[in-house]
Amino acid sequence: KKYFEECVERKRLYNEVIELKGNIRVFCRCRPLNQAEIANGSTSVVDFDPSRENELQIICSDSSKKQFKFDHVFRPGSDQEAVFAQTSPIVTSVLDGYNVCIFAYGQTGTGKTFTMEGTPENKGVNYRTLEELFQISRERSNIMNYELFVSMLEVYNEKIRDLLVEKSNQPPKKLEVKQAAEGTQEVPGLVEARVYGTNEVWGLLQSGSRIRSVGSTNANELSSRSHCLLRVTVKGENLVNGERTSSHLWLVDLAGSERVERIEAQGERLKESQFINKSLSALGDVISALASKTAHIPYRNSKLTHILQSSLGGDCKTLMFVQISPSAADLGETLCSLNFASRVRGIGCGPVRKQA
Ligand code: ADP
Repeated sequence: KKYFEECVERKRLYNEVIELKGNIRVFCRCRPLNQAEIANGSTSVVDFDPSRENELQIICSDSSKKQFKFDHVFRPGSDQEAVFAQTSPIVTSVLDGYNVCIFAYGQTGTGKTFTMEGTPENKGVNYRTLEELFQISRERSNIMNYELFVSMLEVYNEKIRDLLVEKSNQPPKKLEVKQAAEGTQEVPGLVEARVYGTNEVWGLLQSGSRIRSVGSTNANELSSRSHCLLRVTVKGENLVNGERTSSHLWLVDLAGSERVERIEAQGERLKESQFINKSLSALGDVISALASKTAHIPYRNSKLTHILQSSLGGDCKTLMFVQISPSAADLGETLCSLNFASRVRGIGCGPVRKQA
């Protein structure tokens, strides 16, 4: 009974928050300067005012400052625990039947994979999410029976590849998005692995990630040009009233958002960058259309948004991490990323307010 009361209360609070803020959040995470940047004397162009927790300022090359505000700002010292503490209420709502999408957006090298995947010592959002879902499932086991499934896929040059195929030397299966019943989208043939506990999860996620970089001479190079999507499907059965739910949580490590110089990029590289640009702008268009409650949402403009269609919009929850570098050398890309993130959230950036 307590559980149901909690659910009702959570839904009520959540709906109140939605009324006030909408169901799209943007978190900004700034990585620390790395060894190479410190060694060559780089300084940070990102300024944080201790009294303005969710804001940051960018010091532009002409010394002017641009201010940005997000739902949360993680400074270079923030660790994976701090990031997950803010993310956890959003991801775990998949257990209450919500569809959820989390994206990491930004220039290559700003920490998208670090945030989502993490390292063995510093596990990221993906692993921590599954750990938390297992934990809550156990806590609710006398009222709810949950089954968790994991799928992993990559979108590269508008082609979908399954990352959970057993043998990476098999020819890749050609996957397509299909309209399923009740207006939902499916990717028929996509491997769905039932997962029972955290023991197997890290290995599974790592093997998916390894397959992502197969076929490339430089692993980081290729993975930075594809979108990697981890899907967690939660099937719930209420043991008291027999009600069943099925919902998806998507955890997406996007391709690098950096612009490539047309003159430098040729052939494959140019084609790739055109596909990336197209899909990232399609994603931005969809989220900003949702934020401004436009009638027509252009889901069909890219594979990425088409796959995610039934988990973006309605009462689905969306969170975008905009990842940035503090280095002066990346200033242009940092401003592009922050402007993109402000646009998707419909929040814009403003001139710096004069301190009283
Ligand atoms: P991206 O996926 O955006 O290309 P990565 O996640 O590969 O970037 O990050 C680039 C490098 O910076 C990696 O070595 C990563 O471990 C490191 N890094 C990124 N973000 C952080 C952070 N917040 N704290 C410490 N190291 C980080």
